[in-house]
Amino acid sequence: MSKLSYIDEENISNKRVLLRADFDVALDAHNTIADDFRIRQRIPTLKYLLEKKNKIICVSKLGRPKERDPKLSMKIIVQRLRQYLPGITIRLIDDFLTEKPVTFANQKENEILVLENIRYYPEEKQNDKAFAQKLANLADVYVNDAFAMCHRPEASIVGIPQLLPSYAGLQLKQEIKMISAVIKKPKKPMVVIIGGAKISTKIAVISRLIEIADYVILGGGLANVFFRAERYLIGKSICEYEMTLKARQLLYLAEQKGTKIILPTDVLFGDPNDTEKRGEIVHIKDNKIPNNKMILDIGPETKAYYGSLIAKAKTIIWNGPVGLFENPAYRQGTDFIYYAIAHNTDAISIVGGGDTLSAISKKEYLTNITHVSTGGGAMLEFIEKGTLPGIEALRD
Ligand code: ADP
Ligand code: MG
Repeated sequence: MSKLSYIDEENISNKRVLLRADFDVALDAHNTIADDFRIRQRIPTLKYLLEKKNKIICVSKLGRPKERDPKLSMKIIVQRLRQYLPGITIRLIDDFLTEKPVTFANQKENEILVLENIRYYPEEKQNDKAFAQKLANLADVYVNDAFAMCHRPEASIVGIPQLLPSYAGLQLKQEIKMISAVIKKPKKPMVVIIGGAKISTKIAVISRLIEIADYVILGGGLANVFFRAERYLIGKSICEYEMTLKARQLLYLAEQKGTKIILPTDVLFGDPNDTEKRGEIVHIKDNKIPNNKMILDIGPETKAYYGSLIAKAKTIIWNGPVGLFENPAYRQGTDFIYYAIAHNTDAISIVGGGDTLSAISKKEYLTNITHVSTGGGAMLEFIEKGTLPGIEALRD
């Protein structure tokens, strides 16, 4: 397999750099930035390239527009970048296809150009060759610093690296190194916590993790499928009933591999729209969840047991909230998992996932987590396969 080149291991200077950044931040109801973690994470790569006198052109998507949509303009990203990079001129390029060539030709050092939302162009998702060529024409080299996008075979991820000398940025490098180390040689015991809504999006990674972990702890909506596999009553909880057989297969695989799959023994049930009343605690085995109620969080006995396993772990991977954390009445389980991981400072811990990060990213002790991955789907696929299309595309 040919080698991956990282920007800090090569001498990239005085170049026009097309940087596939990841500024795909969460927006709130007022369309302002809810959390700029993804912007902050790119600052080291930007500064590194600037110090070496490179001229940077940033490419990123924001949200999922199908066409031009002013609500998803990179304008707010440009404004935030200006705060983090004082002294640097940062300009938005409204449409790079029609922009005067002189704008690019006259780009100065200490000037960053940010292209408008790349998903405004349908060719991006189609990985259109001619479109990738037009992007590649803007630069001498390509740098990918968008781990969370590397599982997507789009023009700015896999198309451009066919056309330019290509490198991984600092954030992508850290993601690759940290996650590879943990999946190749985990210190034991290794405890994995998988939560979230749908088991179907996580089956492949759970199968893989069963092979390497000692304990696979489940929670959240996806645990409901396993409750059904054991024929317990779950009221009107979310559940992918069609996955029940798959769940049984996972339990069987775990038994063969000697890995323990751990399910909640008690849960909170209630009404997802009621933010006042905390749910009622019930043991799953008692079959007492009414038909009109939903399981919305893990219960106290489960928290205590999960906490004890996390405390003893030497390697921890966590993806997926274990309850409906968006409702404050049902976020305690997810908070508890977070604090349990943050307090095990002996362990190497990796935490990732879009919703997982929005549940924790403003919390204290975040620096106690060894690695906070910006990848949701990308992290899961990387754990499963050990690589991603966007990473393979960088190999020379
Ligand atoms: P991530 O983005 O971190 O990978 P997912 O997208 O898989 O996580 O799942 C997050 C979603 O799962 C959240 O919106 C959360 O409310 C939901 N969820 C977790 N547990 C439950 C539950 N018991 N009932 C309903 N939704 C749940
Ligand atoms: Mg999600």
